[in-house]
Amino acid sequence: MNSPTTADHKIVLITGASSGIGAATARRLAADGHHVVLGARRVDRLEALVAELRAAGGRAEHRELDVTDLDSVRAFVDAAHERHGRIDVLVNNAGVMPLSRIDALRVDDWNLMIDVNLRGTLHGIAAVLPYLRGQGGGHVVNVASVSAYRVDPTAAVYCATKFAVRALSEGLRQESRDIRVTVVSPGYTESELADQGGDPEVRAAVRAASQELAIPASAVADAIGYAIAQPANVDVNELVVRPTAQG
Ligand code: NDP
Repeated sequence: MNSPTTADHKIVLITGASSGIGAATARRLAADGHHVVLGARRVDRLEALVAELRAAGGRAEHRELDVTDLDSVRAFVDAAHERHGRIDVLVNNAGVMPLSRIDALRVDDWNLMIDVNLRGTLHGIAAVLPYLRGQGGGHVVNVASVSAYRVDPTAAVYCATKFAVRALSEGLRQESRDIRVTVVSPGYTESELADQGGDPEVRAAVRAASQELAIPASAVADAIGYAIAQPANVDVNELVVRPTAQG
């Protein structure tokens, strides 16, 4: 572990921290000396990760979180603020990707992606923004995707949610003078994202491509760590991190 100065020690909230990019980001930021507050639905995973981080000398805590529920997101953010008296960074990372063609009409999957990827991100912003404004600064990091920049068959709704995350991030950036806004957009990355949901054939194809190409989740976590580490007057707005071999 590093030995950070007080100025380096930030209170960082991470949604979707129970696996993949969120867990890797927790490891990276705890190693950088930040205090990480981890949220997700699988509390057993969070408990194990907090124990791992503390055993390595890090500062970490967790709370059950469902980003589709505004009350749950508010409770997650409010508890962290009450405990620490400030919130420096929110990493809106929770996401799902049940892919299928539009004409398969898997409307429940569409709604789930809208609820988690888009509405969940907005819930995070709604819960944290009054605190950031009140303390005169802070940082919102939204995890989008290369699917925020391009549309592919079977991914239309997922892309729509990620384009929307990029759009609302840009709007928040334009409306802010003291709050940094960063969009981090991964390509194929090792995680559990393609393990369930959507059309089984599409899922198998995505898993095959991911097994061939995927970069470690730590590569995306490093990009998030880089953006957070910049001085308060330097806002890294967009980072796309994809495998070198991804088309
Ligand atoms: P994982 O499936 O490994 O992680 C997704 C995380 O989101 C889990 O921790 C899960 O926790 C959490 N989550 C899902 N639904 C909810 C919910 N309702 N409330 C709270 N947490 C929730 O996938 P990744 O690490 O890959 O995904 C992280 C982000 O990266 C997502 O936004 C994804 O779209 C994005 N991304 C990933 C890419 C990749 O190739 N891996 C590429 C591009 C973007 P739990 O189930 O415990 O609640």
